[in-house]
Amino acid sequence: MGKIKYPKFIVLLSTATLIFTLTGCTYIGTNKSAQIVSSSVLENPDSHITRTSFNTPQNIDLLRQQLITYYNSGGYEEALQQVGNEAMEYLKSCKNTPGKLAIVFDIDETTLSNWTYEKDTDFGFSNETWTKYKEKEICTPIKPSLELYKQALKQNVTVFFITASKENNRTCYEANLKKAGYTKWEEVMFEPTDSHFALAEEFKSSMRKEITEKGYRIILNIGDQYSDLSGGYADRCFKLPNPFYFIP
Ligand SMILES: [Mg+2]
Repeated sequence: MGKIKYPKFIVLLSTATLIFTLTGCTYIGTNKSAQIVSSSVLENPDSHITRTSFNTPQNIDLLRQQLITYYNSGGYEEALQQVGNEAMEYLKSCKNTPGKLAIVFDIDETTLSNWTYEKDTDFGFSNETWTKYKEKEICTPIKPSLELYKQALKQNVTVFFITASKENNRTCYEANLKKAGYTKWEEVMFEPTDSHFALAEEFKSSMRKEITEKGYRIILNIGDQYSDLSGGYADRCFKLPNPFYFIP
């Protein structure tokens, strides 16, 4: 096979682009590859580097590092505790609230932590790795939620868990809840295995509606996603931090 001969100007342009890239300088152009090079050097604050005004989102590798630092520094735990303290104060204030009282907990990142999964998969979710991980039943409790759960039992407030996870995961979820210290509940509500709710909010609010139709008054609903909380059927909602993933 003979060697392909490129026109001279293409060779020169490619060489220049390579040199600019290797030296950390930015090739300002209008094509997509130039924009990609620009975005990679935007993180570098050195003043001699020419940058475009291209509005680049946060670098994903740096973001992953920030999440690990946030977790390891205790920042995440502290933020969880702050919300937990407010929820606890509110729960205690309901001691004389009349009615058949209930509390609703979400599960993942609300009562159980999946931090080891997030870290080990480099924040990359897949159904296959997630299922294998959950089957190990090794999730540790989110401590402020466990404290809240214990206080609810003390006050004879009925406990419900609502998760957007599917019904076929019931065995490992319930076993893990027990291992983590959540040993009593009225019901753990899972999405039916063949259901197709477009939004977790639709499923979760419909379950809360069902609870209230059984005569309960949900005084407190706590979750790590807004979709755990919106849609009504609870007196007060508490949003825990979760910078690791988003569920609409
Ligand atoms: Mg959750």
